[in-house]
Amino acid sequence: MISLQELNSVPAPQFVAALSSIFERSPWVPERVAQARPFKSGVALHAALCAAVDGANIEEQLALIRAHPELAGRAAIRGGLTPESTREQQGAGLTACTPEEFARLQQLNGLYTQKFGFPFILAVKGHNRASVIAAMEQRIENTVQHERAVALREIGRIAGFRLVDLVDEPLGSRITSMAEQLARISERQDALVCSYLTCAHRATAALIRDWMLGAGLQVEIDAVGNVIGRWPGAVANAPTLLTGSHFDTVVDAGKFDGRLGILLPIAVIADLRRAGVQLPYTVAIVAFSEEEGVRFKSTFLGSRALAGQFDPATLDSVDADGITLRQAMHTAGLDPAAIPAAAIPTRNLLGFVEVHIEQGPVLLNEDVPLGVVTSIAGSIRCLVSISGLAGHSGTVPMHLRRDAAAAAAELVLAVERCCSSTPGLVGTVGQLQVPSGAMNVIPGRCELSVDIRAASDQVRDTAFAAVTAESERIAARRNVEIQWRKVLDVGSVPCAPKMQQSWADSIARVTGKTEVRRLPSGAGHDAMVMARITDMGMLFVRCGNGGISHHPAETLSTDDADLAACAFKDFLLNFPVSI
Ligand SMILES: [Zn+2]
Repeated sequence: MISLQELNSVPAPQFVAALSSIFERSPWVPERVAQARPFKSGVALHAALCAAVDGANIEEQLALIRAHPELAGRAAIRGGLTPESTREQQGAGLTACTPEEFARLQQLNGLYTQKFGFPFILAVKGHNRASVIAAMEQRIENTVQHERAVALREIGRIAGFRLVDLVDEPLGSRITSMAEQLARISERQDALVCSYLTCAHRATAALIRDWMLGAGLQVEIDAVGNVIGRWPGAVANAPTLLTGSHFDTVVDAGKFDGRLGILLPIAVIADLRRAGVQLPYTVAIVAFSEEEGVRFKSTFLGSRALAGQFDPATLDSVDADGITLRQAMHTAGLDPAAIPAAAIPTRNLLGFVEVHIEQGPVLLNEDVPLGVVTSIAGSIRCLVSISGLAGHSGTVPMHLRRDAAAAAAELVLAVERCCSSTPGLVGTVGQLQVPSGAMNVIPGRCELSVDIRAASDQVRDTAFAAVTAESERIAARRNVEIQWRKVLDVGSVPCAPKMQQSWADSIARVTGKTEVRRLPSGAGHDAMVMARITDMGMLFVRCGNGGISHHPAETLSTDDADLAACAFKDFLLNFPVSI
């Protein structure tokens, strides 16, 4: 391996030589980025190399494609491949084909080369012989132009895998640069939006899958689109420790919410595996596909499926375009009927731990980088629909009106009043709309959301009862109908004391400070769903910029990411297997 720092500082010819194995027999690719040094991270270097390939002319691109060997071709049999290609083809079992498979591959190779004029290229990590043959059969149908683009994309993926094995870099910058790279994939040009099963969401899942493969994990995508990477324990039937977080986002999101809890474990496990560490238990990183509830107004779809708590009625929820969740899953190639089977067996589970940015200002204000979460506040979320009577704003006298928006205004203030008197209790109306409202029309309908949270379920329920009682009074007085639909009702969830202790011990060891900050989480997390099936613990990492989150100004320093990675590594190495 070579350090990123060294790559950034050696003379250009040495830089090109060090990267000679990344793009098959094509030193011109690293040559073109040598002047762009220093690179902030391996991820940034990879992006620059891929951009150089994209920017090359067609002849150069074709030469790069043709520099690759045939998959399972005669060169592989002769032993005429580069060491990298040999290792990769062996990994997919391509050097151990049956005579039938070998014959089929030769036949497909022949047809493919005849049609496209270049060899079939596939990043074989995560593939087996059958899936390689299936991919070949499918891609042979592509147009020449499309297939050239696919081949270049696969070359970029292969380069990414090879770079991870070659470049040594600090974990903190690796983690933050992965988050930055992921944030470039969005539904919107001007803001980060990654909602369930959109194109951006699926591309995000694909990149996370690649990073998991690069870290040496066994990866699968389950029925709801969770990306799960496993690092098997050293012994057969080893128990499993789960970790992870969500990769979907709110609208105009920050880069670290959820994603930190996926990328940090990937970086840490890659590091441990490279160091030759073997753990006595299996670690599974789960990148949950849905937590925020943006598209279908139903939260925690990913963790609910994994915990065996998925409500089939959710499949009929519709998004803003009238597409049902069921349809969206079919379009994405997911099978709703397979959701029950996606539930993880609870036998042999050691627990679930989630690393998350704090999303608040507590650690920042106290100048503490890491904190142990004690419990997650419960919350009730409702969608409220108020029906009055629309009318002409100029002709209907005030005393005869049934104005839905005026009733909504009273309700907003009632929520604020009912939730202001108790510490730790919070109530919010975050959405408020007059559907198809017009300046000269009395609002006949109004829709709003109500979100009430507290660390104590009793406090929260009392506040909710007070708000709904007030809602009935408003409805009677104003002669409007107010309908409440509860979309979420989750009790507060304590973190397992043993998990809290393990996190506290790890934080104390890596910071050298015996006093460890413990704090509750006001925000909901996948961990609260996972707590229904196993012991749960959470690590909070300091959020910069005043603690702002769910916003593009959300930040996390590289140093804090590095320290959190050290704590997570320590946690894994010292985790008591018989918890
Ligand atoms: Zn989150």
